[in-house]
Formats: sequence, C-alpha cells, structure tokens
Amino acid sequence: MAETRSFTCVNCPLGCVIDVQLEDDGTIGSITGHTCKLGEDYVRQEAVDPRRNVSSFVCVEGCLEPLSVKTAAPIPKAKIREVMEVVRALKLHPPIQAGDTVLENAAGTGIAIVATKSLD
Ligand code: SF4
Repeated sequence: MAETRSFTCVNCPLGCVIDVQLEDDGTIGSITGHTCKLGEDYVRQEAVDPRRNVSSFVCVEGCLEPLSVKTAAPIPKAKIREVMEVVRALKLHPPIQAGDTVLENAAGTGIAIVATKSLD
C-alpha cells in the first residue's frame, strides 16, 4: 500500500511542507506542496536516499590544535556513525593543507574526507 511522507524543505526560509507518495516498490508516485524545483529535487533525494554533509575534528600528531575536516560531498545518512568512527580513528601527521584529502572512500561511501584548514 502506498505511503505518504511529509518533509519540510530546508532550501530556503519558506520551509514548504512537501508530501511525497511512496509506491510499494519504493518509487516516488506524486509530490505535492513544493513551490519550486529546488523543493522537488530535495524530496526526491530525501525520500529515497537521505544524505548529509558531516564535519568533525581530528587530532594531528605534534599539534595542540585539532584539524577540522568534512565530507567532500553528502554521505548517506545511514553511514554517518560508521564514517565518524573511521574519522575518529585517523592518525594524521603535519603538514596538512586546507583541501587535502585525509581519507579516501570513507567507510565505503565513495566519499573522501578533506581538511578544511591548514596545519604546519
Ligand atoms: S520548495 Fe522552494 S520555496 Fe519552498 S522551501 Fe523549498 S526552496 Fe523554498
């Protein structure tokens, strides 16, 4: 039996509430309540494969200051915990430049972890 789920669009302050009808086979039937294409694209992703950008900090050997890092692209929401565990286990050494990849394919997501600042 088809299921209807509601999402609040986060792309602008209007916060449209968008209803998505999910068919039995997991495909999207109808989308209502959006005001623009951004909202439609948002719920098409959010309804079937929700993803998030994740930021964290990593200790770097010999540095008192932690290194801020982030995912290079949004990762599946279901993988956030696993990605945070591998990020926490990283052993990094300076120098590191902002934008450097500090981990490829984090937890099998295909998404890299990159530094967001430089540490010498
Ligand atoms: S659907 Fe469009 S207008 Fe509505 S909250 Fe999303 S971005 Fe804003």
